[in-house]
Amino acid sequence: MKTYIVGNWKMNFSVGESSLYLHKLLLKIRAARGLEVVVAPSLVSLQSLSLQTDRRKIKLAAQNFFYRDFGAYTGEVSVSQLRSLVDYAIVGHSERRYIFKETDKDVRNKVAAALRNGITPILCVGETESERTFGETADVIRDMVLGGLSEVSAEDVKKVILAYEPVWAISGSGRNVKPASPLDVKDVFSLIRETLKETYGKETAEETPLLFGGSVSPDNAGGYLSLSDCNGLLIGGASLIAPKFIDIIEEAKRLKSEK
Ligand code: PEP
Repeated sequence: MKTYIVGNWKMNFSVGESSLYLHKLLLKIRAARGLEVVVAPSLVSLQSLSLQTDRRKIKLAAQNFFYRDFGAYTGEVSVSQLRSLVDYAIVGHSERRYIFKETDKDVRNKVAAALRNGITPILCVGETESERTFGETADVIRDMVLGGLSEVSAEDVKKVILAYEPVWAISGSGRNVKPASPLDVKDVFSLIRETLKETYGKETAEETPLLFGGSVSPDNAGGYLSLSDCNGLLIGGASLIAPKFIDIIEEAKRLKSEK
């Protein structure tokens, strides 16, 4: 299975800055077999970056979209409009769920819409700090995984990338958080694989990529990537700083060659 290193730029960089940053990354990154580097710039930059990028080195993801393909939805962009621009789309990120009040229904419709349009959804799931404190992590993760996949046919489940992103470990805007330990992540990865196995069978459980996200840095990336269930990382803050993002990619390459 591939290793995915996905950078979520969130609402950062102007169109010009995004282009300069991508240029810098393209100069430094060499394509490597089995390693998929993806960046999710702001929507306004996608058109120009899609012309600029070398997809063998860096593919693009959308951070958000609406699940209808077209129609009277002022201000929205559909995933069908993004088809020629991106290969991936992030769905259900906690910032969308909690700041923009996206519902479980929105999330499952978006996952289905992405697949319908040939775009790989990166479905984010993760418990909040209070859910973890009250011992609800397993229930929350199970509900989010099965809820998010509920409009997907059993044979298509492995086309979805799942990203475990504990909300309490996401660094967000300047928040100082304690990163998750690889042991915390290992337990939740096992739970996700088990949930997929019970519902969709062993093969799907083994072939569905699982990423981790939450305060990933060059210092801790190797700890997560070394987990046997880990197929990559979703990176916010550190993906905005070229040397950090590149260090993480190099670490992923190194570990991939050892596996
Ligand atoms: C994220 O928001 O998806 C994320 C992982 O952010 P950070 O790496 O900054 O915690």
